Amino acid sequence: MLNIVIFGAPGSGKGTQSERMAERFGLNHISTGDVLRGEIRNDTQLGRTAKGFIDQGQLIPDKLMIDILANVLDGFKDNKGVIFDGFPRTVIQAEELKKMLAARGQEVSVMLDLNVREEELMKRLIKRGRDSGRADDNEETIKKRLLVYHTQTSPLIEWYKNEGKYVHIKGHGNPEEITEQIVHAVGAALTVNY
Ligand code: AMP
Repeated sequence: MLNIVIFGAPGSGKGTQSERMAERFGLNHISTGDVLRGEIRNDTQLGRTAKGFIDQGQLIPDKLMIDILANVLDGFKDNKGVIFDGFPRTVIQAEELKKMLAARGQEVSVMLDLNVREEELMKRLIKRGRDSGRADDNEETIKKRLLVYHTQTSPLIEWYKNEGKYVHIKGHGNPEEITEQIVHAVGAALTVNY
């Protein structure tokens, strides 16, 4: 079972790379951001709650996010493994993910940290906001999201280093080359860990 956490700041390319990896390895892909945006589109109770946080560039509370993730995970049939894209985003979420997978006899195989410079993140997100109209891709909210990333999410780098799962990926350059770097890193991590 190949469970991959794709990690990185907003705009680091997690979504693009997750889709490619899911296809390449036949894995399920959970993007917690996409799950929440789906709920907002369908105007569910959960969607309305989530929208308040997302529009402010804040994280959805851990308990709620963990319940959502457990639900999606339980919905997978014939699971060969999962790409976790945008989850975990706090140490509490990482601890819960570890427990959730352990309860299913599994673990995170590798955590890939897509590293991109701050100016480049800003540029990419502003462009994405213009192209896709994503409501939280405006300059003010982007700044808040980057701050949230630095304060609440980046401690996961140390956390996964301690778990022996951390792999640094250079997130600059063309997407195909980044995918190749990732494929290589996953192969190497699996050889070391198993
Ligand atoms: P993303 O599409 O991954 O950039 O997520 C968009 C927004 O959804 C984030 O800015 C958060 O408000 C919310 N979100 C997504 N994943 C999580 C998570 N694991 N924990 C808390 N909030 C999340």
